[in-house]
Amino acid sequence: MKIDTTILQSIQNEIDKAKKIAVLGHHHPDGDSMGGSGAVYTFLKNMGKEVGLLMPSQFSPSLAWMPNVGEIIRYDLDKNAFEKSINEADLVFCVDYNEAGRTGAAEAVLKNSPATKIVLDHHPNSGSYGNYIICETSVSSASEVVYEVLSKLNNAEKYICKTVAENLFTGIMTDTICFSVNSSRPRTFEIAAKLLKFGLDKDKIYGNVNFNFSEQRMRLMGFILDSKMNILPEYNLAYAVLSLKDQEKYNYKHGDAEGLVNLPLSIKGVDASVLFIEKEDYVKLSLRSTNDFDVNKLARLHFNGGGHQRAAGGKLDDISGEAATALLLKVLPDFYADYKGQK
Ligand code: 5GP
Ligand code: MN
Repeated sequence: MKIDTTILQSIQNEIDKAKKIAVLGHHHPDGDSMGGSGAVYTFLKNMGKEVGLLMPSQFSPSLAWMPNVGEIIRYDLDKNAFEKSINEADLVFCVDYNEAGRTGAAEAVLKNSPATKIVLDHHPNSGSYGNYIICETSVSSASEVVYEVLSKLNNAEKYICKTVAENLFTGIMTDTICFSVNSSRPRTFEIAAKLLKFGLDKDKIYGNVNFNFSEQRMRLMGFILDSKMNILPEYNLAYAVLSLKDQEKYNYKHGDAEGLVNLPLSIKGVDASVLFIEKEDYVKLSLRSTNDFDVNKLARLHFNGGGHQRAAGGKLDDISGEAATALLLKVLPDFYADYKGQK
């Protein structure tokens, strides 16, 4: 990945002159946003900077073991501390998103802050948010972008420690679904190898992320696959609705649906999978695909969302899971015709 040397120099200057810095992940941060942010935070702390690690909202319990979790200031839990950290910062790092709206309820605080914003990301549809934007869609993860940037800063070898490595490895591992997608470039593995040299326990990280769920979550998955999954062979698509009733029955906790949307892709002929999760006043969508089925486009066009070609999300306000499904069924014929190049 090529990084413009002028931008890199500007980032170095901004860091050097900043008295206070904030690092902010996206709404409901995933392993990549948590890992990339945790890495920037730890690196800057190692430099002796005054830094805040901020998240807009809850993360999955499968990430509760991550190295800097105890230092996170969450907007949903402590608005005052969050606002103070952002408002006093000279510099804010935005990790794993390139639209301020991805910070959810914290959007206004971010937008109103006078700080210089540095965006480190890998999502398409890169907007113009941020004073310095390093957004490379060809790489595995924002954590990979973070590595490329941090490792080129002055005295990087002094500041990249085992904690930075653990954060970045977790980000790369989770965003590539354990090196199964978005990880065909040799460079991703070169970086993973460099990170392993810090002595991190790869198997432990894998286990922490993947073997830490509840029995109820496993049973919920079984139920959804058996009773709720619908397959539309004519559109190479599978979908399921996780209703509020299902969630109550299985004592659903935030993060329990993680990974569920991927499972139908293992069925021959299924190129795309959509999971609708009912919330009190909206429906959240998770979309995944293989081949050229562009779920980012589907989410952007019809579900107020976005993401990557093969992994995207969206949100429909004031609607039931059933109505959200009806909308998918309505837009699918035209969308699919495009996918198959018939239009
Ligand atoms: P997930 O299904 O895990 O929530 O999200 C999958 C991918 O889509 C992630 O890369 C995430 O950043 C992105 N994503 C999820 N929800 C939204 C959304 O509402 N808007 C946009 N632009 N991206 C989203
Ligand atoms: Mn990511």
